[in-house]
Amino acid sequence: MNTFTYHQAANIGAAIDAFTGHENVKFLSGGMTLLPAMKHGLIQPSHLVDVTKLSELHKLEETADYLLLGASTPHNTVASSPIVAKAIPALAYLASQIGDPQVRVRGTLGGSIANNDPAADYPAGTLGLKATIVTDQREIAAQDFFTGFYSTALQENELIQYVKFAKPLKSAYCKFKQAASGYALAGVFIAVYPNQEIRVAATGVAAGVFRWLEAEEAFKNGQDNPALERDDLISDLHATSAYRVNIAKVLFRRATQQIQNS
Ligand SMILES: Cc1cc2nc3c(=O)[nH]c(=O)nc-3n(C[C@H](O)[C@H](O)[C@H](O)COP(=O)(O)OP(=O)(O)OC[C@H]3O[C@@H](n4cnc5c(N)ncnc54)[C@H](O)[C@@H]3O)c2cc1C
Repeated sequence: MNTFTYHQAANIGAAIDAFTGHENVKFLSGGMTLLPAMKHGLIQPSHLVDVTKLSELHKLEETADYLLLGASTPHNTVASSPIVAKAIPALAYLASQIGDPQVRVRGTLGGSIANNDPAADYPAGTLGLKATIVTDQREIAAQDFFTGFYSTALQENELIQYVKFAKPLKSAYCKFKQAASGYALAGVFIAVYPNQEIRVAATGVAAGVFRWLEAEEAFKNGQDNPALERDDLISDLHATSAYRVNIAKVLFRRATQQIQNS
């Protein structure tokens, strides 16, 4: 691993200031993705700005309409929080299914969505729950935040502070794990809002998380075999695209059943 300068940011202003005058600076959260990438020489930041101790990034609040979670909230905190379990149980379940206990202790919500791995779980919950990503500069709707393969709308020095999830009437997340890593071979998040508004988000299947519009229509119409045709479906050594599509449809049916039975 190359040498780098480590900064422990005392507040958000200091975290942003650490970028001034330097190139190749990265925020460090749980380090679950960033540090292995550095060890393998895939990226070589000259400065790391640790944001895990910023109190502003540890928000965990429920309002009448939203659940607010700070960017530095570890997965296991979300998985075990009574507030999350009451407000959006499917989100607590989603967090409980990420990786292994070590990953859940270190990995964070902000790191996960900033990284936007095409097989990650949080992007599906974030898009499915009509979330708003609040940064030090602006608010970004999830629909505009996830822009493709490992890419987001974030600027280089833009810090996610917290994520505002719109509380649904009901929701469910179903995931089929890739055996070696635990990442989603496919994952489907369904959320039901008033006035028959349905959100279905899928992960693991394509180059990035996406709203599965055909599944939203199918849910409304009581159909269980929505079409899934895209030109960016993933096919790799773990599964063909046809297999992933089939799994996604099974997960859609399971999540639909969970919602109907809840
Ligand atoms: C063995 C293993 C198994 C895993 N299994 C799963 C799984 O099943 N499902 C799943 O979804 N994920 C999985 N992960 C990913 C993990 O859960 C983390 O969410 C992910 O690695 C990134 O989170 P982090 O907090 O570690 O971020 P880091 O690695 O510290 O950072 C990742 C990226 O986000 C940026 N970043 C971090 N915080 C912020 C912020 N507040 N604002 C802006 N940018 C920021 C960093 O600069 C970096 O570019 C797994 C990881 C490992 C190592």
